[in-house]
Amino acid sequence: MQSIFNNLQAIRSKIDAIALTKNNLFSAEQLNKLQLLAVSKAQPVAAIREAYQEGVRLFGENYLQEALDKQGQLSDLAIEWHFIGPIQSNKTQLIAQHFAWVQSVDRIKIAQRLNDARPDNLPALQICLQVNISGEASKSGVAQADLAELAAAVAKLPRLQLRGLMAIPAPTQDVQLQSKQFSQVRQCYEQLQEKGFNLDTLSMGMSEDFESAILQGATMVRIGAGLFGVRQHPAKH
Ligand SMILES: *Cc1c(COP(=O)(O)O)cnc(C)c1O
Repeated sequence: MQSIFNNLQAIRSKIDAIALTKNNLFSAEQLNKLQLLAVSKAQPVAAIREAYQEGVRLFGENYLQEALDKQGQLSDLAIEWHFIGPIQSNKTQLIAQHFAWVQSVDRIKIAQRLNDARPDNLPALQICLQVNISGEASKSGVAQADLAELAAAVAKLPRLQLRGLMAIPAPTQDVQLQSKQFSQVRQCYEQLQEKGFNLDTLSMGMSEDFESAILQGATMVRIGAGLFGVRQHPAKH
């Protein structure tokens, strides 16, 4: 439990240190707006409570059944739940009912189903489109060539609110390659903004590469192991 506190301190001080680095793309305004999404897949509810006590409010889950179990046990906390895993059609109804955000939308059919299932008494479901920037290395995410069309379709759906992009570039220790990949995601984001989409969320960067992501303009980083420690059991589906 002590370590979640320590890990969070370490993450926050790394983020603060970025403010001191020189980079054209980075601004103090960006740092102030930067959001931390705690990725709690395969972590116990006690760990989520601990992070919550330290001020974390955004939690991300990848597997629906696991997420629903935890949400039931944590219903006393004001958590903003983000769904960040691959989405099968038959899961859209429960996802639309139980999450505030979905960051892994990569096709129109899924967006339509989430829209149709979003309960009227809840605010619009907040959406990031997952963009595939590493080509064949990953099966998930919309191809860059199809991104604008998907964004246009999602923007028309009344029960969804398009907020931005999410990406999971190929993991690498090579900082230059990290930067290059994140820069590509940022360019996709800026191109959509230039087309008139009103976006404010660029969700990129995980435990091993979040500093590069912030330097390339991330507004939200998604951190799992770096906050909670190594995942305690294999993530279940
Ligand atoms: C697991 C996961 C993360 C967090 O990864 P860590 O390396 O543990 O920080 C972030 N985003 C997505 C989509 C994930 O599936």
